[in-house]
Amino acid sequence: LEAHAVPLKNDSGDVVSLLGITLNITERKELDRCKDEMISAVSHDMRTPLAAMLGYLQFVMENPVDEEQMRDYLGIMYKEGNRLNDLISGFLDMQRFKAKRNTYNFKSIDIRPIVVETAALFASPSAKHHIVADLPSHLPLVLGDELLLHQAFNNLLSNAIKYSPDGGEVNLGAKLEEDSVTLWVKDEGIGIQPELRDKIFDIFYRVDNKASRRANGTGLGLALVKEIVTALSGRVWVESELGKGSTFYITLPVAKKTNHSEYGGVDNS
Ligand code: ADP
Repeated sequence: LEAHAVPLKNDSGDVVSLLGITLNITERKELDRCKDEMISAVSHDMRTPLAAMLGYLQFVMENPVDEEQMRDYLGIMYKEGNRLNDLISGFLDMQRFKAKRNTYNFKSIDIRPIVVETAALFASPSAKHHIVADLPSHLPLVLGDELLLHQAFNNLLSNAIKYSPDGGEVNLGAKLEEDSVTLWVKDEGIGIQPELRDKIFDIFYRVDNKASRRANGTGLGLALVKEIVTALSGRVWVESELGKGSTFYITLPVAKKTNHSEYGGVDNS
């Protein structure tokens, strides 16, 4: 523990008492470490596309290039510029969420339409994956925020599609447990090595294999899912078999009983 004494002064500037503040040093060091990790992740990941753009720019400035080459190089610069843009906006979304985390006014919400609407976003006639939602007709309300949960589902569903081959099936489901609702997104994709199943939730972490590299990404999606679910007092985890597929689970506590309803259950049957 670290002790600080803050002098409290009266109107004439005399010290009248000392306000003692104790800070938990371990906690502060942990915070500093997190910030350092964050800064190094941000600078490393944002520098890569920037370096590529600058490299190509310098090359075309210093060398004669024909029209076709120029088009190729511009294409690469545009792609890298977009990547940088995705990284920055994703990172800002995350920071914005963290800053507002304690001010959200969570309310009792029905999770069912959120899952159905998110699934519908990905299920177009030209979609290359088959999306199947299997939800019970009755689910109790959970404590949450519609936009945030949309975002969390969106991230899980877009990953399920991104990391599985065309023609694969993606299953969405939900079940009621004692005092929580568990939802899942299951794919038939590339799977995740057992030792990386916690790591993938870290900010900017991307699995370093061919299939993951091929899929465009920022390494922010799952970190945001974890932030959101944790803020809602829930839990997120993955079960997976390499080469066979992954199932991401989210558990959210059921909203407490109110005077108005038993636990606010909604029957959609
Ligand atoms: P990204 O933008 O890279 O998709 P995420 O934070 O959403 O970032 O995911 C982190 C990493 O976890 C991905 O780069 C990928 O390697 C792995 N991953 C996420 N979802 C899946 C999935 N459904 N199947 C296989 N790997 C996945």
